Amino acid sequence: MVDFSFEFFPPKTDLGAAKLLDVHTELAALAPEYFSITYGAGGSTRERTLSSVDALHGRHGIAAVPHMSCIGDSKDEVRLLLERYKNQGITQLVALRGDLPSGQVGLGDIPYASDLVAFIRAHTGDHFNIAVAAYPEMHPQADSFAKDFAYFSHKVASGADSAITQFFYNPDSYFYFVEACASKGINIPIVPGIMPITNASNILRFADGCGAEVPRWIRKRLIDFGDDSASIQAFGLEVVTNLCEQLIAGGAPALHFYSMNQVEPSQQLVRNLGLL
Ligand code: FAD
Repeated sequence: MVDFSFEFFPPKTDLGAAKLLDVHTELAALAPEYFSITYGAGGSTRERTLSSVDALHGRHGIAAVPHMSCIGDSKDEVRLLLERYKNQGITQLVALRGDLPSGQVGLGDIPYASDLVAFIRAHTGDHFNIAVAAYPEMHPQADSFAKDFAYFSHKVASGADSAITQFFYNPDSYFYFVEACASKGINIPIVPGIMPITNASNILRFADGCGAEVPRWIRKRLIDFGDDSASIQAFGLEVVTNLCEQLIAGGAPALHFYSMNQVEPSQQLVRNLGLL
């Protein structure tokens, strides 16, 4: 049986924070490996990410894994954050470049995720287990797969222990990526990032925003369902369950669910897959 984890974003309001505790309790009952918590690049969610980590780390006996981005941040800011997490007993991180919020300029002292991984290793040695991002369908700003893959290899060589992918709905893209890694001697776990489909316009917007492809047949079916949200959810559950089954059968080492701070979509997938 494969391990699985859930991702949360830090809530913007007190009500959202209270609701997240309930969501956490329900998903914790499924016994995930960890809960990761996203971080807004340029420090835009720094306080909210920190308070979510404080609220969730160790709750129900499960670790919180903070995401850290580097673009727009100074070395001092990153160093302070690392010290805080280390003192708090955090031992796992997701290290990212991030995307600067529109209007914010300046790359900061640490321009790429590989630089962040190297910085974390230089300042904290082997204390943290570091996951990085991987893009089976290429990062949207990359010129070519070859260049993107070379930068990914460099990120791994800088000290990453595992990678979590951007979401995708074409399992072949994942298997080709894993094969490319194996052929270059990259043997870290490459964990598929799984985005449940519950709402047509949201999923198409997210996909356009991050360069993930929603295959034409899925896109067309979602649009055809119109306002029939029950049919969208049933179809989405079937498609994503099938995707996960293919990934597990093909050797995926674990699954990372983008929960969007909701219980049901990820919970139904975990149940369908018999991962309890
Ligand atoms: P990098 O690995 O640095 O790559 C970014 C781009 O630069 C790529 O096109 C790459 O080919 C290129 N590149 C890399 N190194 C070099 C170099 N040395 N010279 C020239 N070009 C280079 N964003 C957030 O803001 N907060 C989050 O919490 C967050 N969590 C995420 C979690 C996962 C699992 C994933 C997949 C993405 C997440 N993102 C998050 C989005 C991510 O920050 C963006 O996709 C961002 O554009 C790239 O981040 P990266 O870490 O992959 O960057």
